[in-house]
Amino acid sequence: METGVPQTPNPAMEVRLWGVRGSVPTPCIENLRVGGNTACVDVVLPTGERFIFDAGTGIRNLGLAEAERPGQTDLHVFLTHFHWDHLQGLPFFQPLYSAGNTITFHSGWTAERLREVLSGQMTNPYFPVRFDLLAAEMRFEQLLEEPVGFGAAKIASFALNHPGGACGYTVDAGGARVVYATDHEHGNPEADARLLKAATGADVLIYDAQFTPDEYPSHAGWGHGTWLEATRVAKAAGVRELVLFHHDPGHTDDEMERILAEARVHFAATRLAVEWETISVVGR
Ligand SMILES: [Zn+2]
Ligand SMILES: [Zn+2]
Repeated sequence: METGVPQTPNPAMEVRLWGVRGSVPTPCIENLRVGGNTACVDVVLPTGERFIFDAGTGIRNLGLAEAERPGQTDLHVFLTHFHWDHLQGLPFFQPLYSAGNTITFHSGWTAERLREVLSGQMTNPYFPVRFDLLAAEMRFEQLLEEPVGFGAAKIASFALNHPGGACGYTVDAGGARVVYATDHEHGNPEADARLLKAATGADVLIYDAQFTPDEYPSHAGWGHGTWLEATRVAKAAGVRELVLFHHDPGHTDDEMERILAEARVHFAATRLAVEWETISVVGR
């Protein structure tokens, strides 16, 4: 029956934002609308397959939502690097505590290094439960620039410019591309070129926009970008939508609104990463 209601095409992917803050969780009243949990997003395909990026404190809520979906036993977690704001939620990720789950961790580092870092985080005196005693079966894999198939998606990593190293990820599925590029400081020509290549033609670019251009000079070398650089990359790469991510802990909701308005002057299709929001990605 013709309803006259415009039909939206089925999304190729959905990006869910569980943690959008950088550096440290900021659960304060001035930040509640944008959100205070640290980095965690997942990408969900129409088949139900899902891929988790980073394990900041936002992964706790993701894990609680997963616990309500019986049957999902095979999870993939892709880590950009091991700074606390990308790892600190992991000990509170519910699926780790369920026998029958298989959780595969991926990063740009070797599988051995990855296992070592994750188990080092959950050890006496930092945490009461030892990593190797968790109920889920855990696997560790290295993912480099060569795209690897995960069900209906292809995922690859690329190296960013960040103290100690970090990598971004591209996710291709259903004719669409999502790029997760957080913890990157512009100004390193090789890293900037890798990012531009990864983002070229992307449907969604999630980008580290921690600082304002005014704040940046006193934070040069800290490994983070600005909203202005984000808009430049988005424009040069011809992305469909730019998502400002890894918000500074000191930026209140009101400041974030001003940042968004300024960024939109430079690149209209810009949005703020807001905790609990979902971005529908339609293939071209
Ligand atoms: Zn970070
Ligand atoms: Zn970092």
